[in-house]
Amino acid sequence: MIYLDNNATTQIDPAALEEMMPFLTTAYANPSSGYQSAVQVRQAMEGARERLAATLGCKTAEIIFTSGGTESNNAAINSALQFEPRGKHIVTSAVEHSATWRCCQEMAKRGCEVTFVGVDRDGNLDLGEVEEAVRPQTAVVSIMWANNETGVLFPVEKIAQICRGKRVLFHTDAVQVIGKIPLRLQDSTINFLSLSAHKFHGPKGVGALFIREGTRFQSSLIGGSHESGRRAGTENVASIVGLGKAAEIAGAKVLEEQKRVGPLRDQFEIGITQAISGTHINGSCATRLANTTSASFDGIESQAALLLLDRYGVCCSAGSACRTGASEASHVLQAMQVSDELARGTLRFSFGRFNSDADVPGAVELLARVVSRLRSLQAPAGAPVSVS
Ligand code: PLP
Repeated sequence: MIYLDNNATTQIDPAALEEMMPFLTTAYANPSSGYQSAVQVRQAMEGARERLAATLGCKTAEIIFTSGGTESNNAAINSALQFEPRGKHIVTSAVEHSATWRCCQEMAKRGCEVTFVGVDRDGNLDLGEVEEAVRPQTAVVSIMWANNETGVLFPVEKIAQICRGKRVLFHTDAVQVIGKIPLRLQDSTINFLSLSAHKFHGPKGVGALFIREGTRFQSSLIGGSHESGRRAGTENVASIVGLGKAAEIAGAKVLEEQKRVGPLRDQFEIGITQAISGTHINGSCATRLANTTSASFDGIESQAALLLLDRYGVCCSAGSACRTGASEASHVLQAMQVSDELARGTLRFSFGRFNSDADVPGAVELLARVVSRLRSLQAPAGAPVSVS
């Protein structure tokens, strides 16, 4: 198998799994309990918080553990709206992951006003447009750090400064950047940051929300007073421990991995552009994550391509994993003014820590074969068609 879908999820790092095992077997005490065996469990959880804080460059008290990126995004936006006395206006981008995009759409149904700031053909946001969108009634600006479909990076630290200047809270969905770019939150003015362990070789169903010291926060989950009263529910200890180890490794390897994975992705893009006519790399002129390729191919349907690639053992996705099986064009590609036809022929390939040089030529060759097969199937009546 050639796994090129690391923006959808990643293989768990064996070292993270190993550290989780005791907490799925013998060390099962509830971390809130008073007896001795719970102390070890609490310590492991706090160790994970320290490791994550070191990777993010923030304080341990600024981190709460959640069930993942979706919960963290919802929690930050909901909390900001609860506390904002001036009004209920949200600024976000037109290319957010559905975990933010749909949350904002739902808020609009409940009476909030939402401004979705657009992007240009390369997927870039205009800082001036974001600034102009902020009004006295704005409760929160939520802009992702990197786009999950194209890898395009947004200038979130600059946006956070604009927000600080206007006394508006700023949240960023950083799910796609952990382990891909170095972070130092203590040097930024970001109020909230979301992340998810399964995107950086940790387990699924666990994530975290960074809440800057001094930023008011209230969870919309009603229940116990876990996570210093900021997130109700018994902690998912084993997964939190796995997240901590994965974050530590991601932090330690980030520069090395950027240098290793970037050339793999670049060779792949050169390879497919040379081997397949009618290839268009989305966001190629923008600053992008080193691991992501969004490529549109003339004359194919991505759903059919996915099926054939799967037969050859190549895993990738059409736009984003959540879209697989959905027939409408990706809202990200629509916002970038990619035509419907090209959007329907778009595939996302995302490299990760467990990809090697050897994956590139194989993936290029198989993709070229699949695209050529699909194009021949769509050839006009009378043209020779080979199906095997
Ligand atoms: N935000 C982005 C940018 C993502 O790519 C994803 C996952 O695809 C999420 C949020 C959702 O994260 P989770 O799967 O942990 O809920």
